Amino acid sequence: MDKRDYYEVLGVNKDATAEEIKRAYRKLAVQSHPDKHQGDKVAEEKFKEISEAYEVLSDPDKRATYDRFGHEGLKGAFGRSGFTWQDFTHFGDFEDIFGGLGDFFRSFGIEPDIFGGSWGRSRTSGPRKGRDIQYELEIEFTEAALGTEKTIEVSRYDVCDVCKGSGAKPGTKDSICSACKGRGQVSTVSGFFSISRTCGECGGSGRVITTPCKSCGGRGKSKASKKIKVKVPAGADNGVRLRMSHEGDCGDKGGPRGDLYVIIYVKEHKIFKRHERDIYCEAKINFTEAVFGAEIEVPTLYGNVRMKLPAGTQSGKIFRLRGKGIPNIFSGSSARGDQLVRVQVDIPQKLTEEQKKILKEFARTLEKGSSSKGFIDKVKKAFK
Ligand SMILES: [Zn+2]
Ligand SMILES: [Zn+2]
Repeated sequence: MDKRDYYEVLGVNKDATAEEIKRAYRKLAVQSHPDKHQGDKVAEEKFKEISEAYEVLSDPDKRATYDRFGHEGLKGAFGRSGFTWQDFTHFGDFEDIFGGLGDFFRSFGIEPDIFGGSWGRSRTSGPRKGRDIQYELEIEFTEAALGTEKTIEVSRYDVCDVCKGSGAKPGTKDSICSACKGRGQVSTVSGFFSISRTCGECGGSGRVITTPCKSCGGRGKSKASKKIKVKVPAGADNGVRLRMSHEGDCGDKGGPRGDLYVIIYVKEHKIFKRHERDIYCEAKINFTEAVFGAEIEVPTLYGNVRMKLPAGTQSGKIFRLRGKGIPNIFSGSSARGDQLVRVQVDIPQKLTEEQKKILKEFARTLEKGSSSKGFIDKVKKAFK
């Protein structure tokens, strides 16, 4: 396969300035963003190609060599199998293009660890756990309070059933990785030190696939949607994370699945408000119910209950219904909160002539500091 001209790859002129080269590369790199090309091998190859071109043209020495001798002249600059990600020295350029560097490469199926120490975690060639995935689940207020079961559909990676996860076309054989000669490690000499790193071509296994599986493009896994039952415990609140082990993406090389995290979002309720395990609501009563006391019906999570109001109940007074609140998510219904009912007295806005007369009479009795039984009966009748 003939290599394309680096200037052509980046779409710049032979006399382009360093700034122009950088700008061209950034533009192309953004276009290769994995959000647009998830799991796309062609896009990944293209991304690698522009990165290689940038690696050469951004380095004055390499660029001068390339200008004089072409691709042939750079044979010594890279490993035997040519440019690999380990030869790339501009990772810093990605941080500001893409934010999180690791995730960017991972979404191309490239493990950041292959770049060596700076990203921590040394990579082993054994099976690796799949990635954790998240799902946001919105539920009703009462479902959160009392618990519920929901079926969700998640999109996750499953082991490719054509190649059984190997990534190789069935019936084909893998071969020894030419970059590390099967050792899984490559070393770079830096002054007196020799730094050993996991081989980027084979990911440390020492073997490379010769014919990739067509079904999964050599990744060994493919996206599939799966229905999963989620049990939401009574007392769940906004932001609660439910962990479902081994329901995430499949692992590589037979590694275990990652986990699924279901994050709960609770819709608002028309009547109830929640504060920790207590529930708040308002109850409107009328003028005479406040004055003479009454028994009113109050909705709770557990059905309507009757609540006694004493005579002379003030507007804004709060009554407590014990144990009618939300269960403790950990210990269940034995530790329920309370329901707090705030009473609001509805002051009548339109009065009949008779009601006005009686209230004026009432006002006079207040001035005298006395009251009479006969008067109370009159009020009861007038405001019925
Ligand atoms: Zn496959
Ligand atoms: Zn290798």
